[in-house]
Amino acid sequence: MTDDGLQKPIRMTRQRCVILDQLRKMKCHPSADEVYQRVREELPRVSLGTIYRNLDVLCECGLIQRLETAGTQRRFDGNAGEHYHVRCIVCDRIDDIELDVPDEIEQRAREAGDFDIVGHRLEFVGICPACRKARSQNASTN
Ligand SMILES: [Zn+2]
Ligand SMILES: [Zn+2]
Repeated sequence: MTDDGLQKPIRMTRQRCVILDQLRKMKCHPSADEVYQRVREELPRVSLGTIYRNLDVLCECGLIQRLETAGTQRRFDGNAGEHYHVRCIVCDRIDDIELDVPDEIEQRAREAGDFDIVGHRLEFVGICPACRKARSQNASTN
């Protein structure tokens, strides 16, 4: 490991540009495999291993983020800013959710335990519109 805690400027290779570009266009918080499918349309010879490596690099330099949600697959987010997510418990779809969470939530967490709180993650769970619709259709045919 050469991580010295500093954000190193990275060389934006063509591959990285394309990966970053595609990821920012995808609002669905894709898995590495889904990013790979998209990038391959532009760079047919790219390998899945290259996608993984570059996603890691882009995460490390803070250009994208890795979602720390409870879903089945590791997912990525082209929006590295602080924002919140809602995950469908049926199909695992993850959407952004616009929400103002008061800063005092971290102060409260500090007071409630003995950790130095440096940030927080908040994941909402629910049922997405498509799954809700499928459920109500199932219910009406029974
Ligand atoms: Zn769903
Ligand atoms: Zn997001």
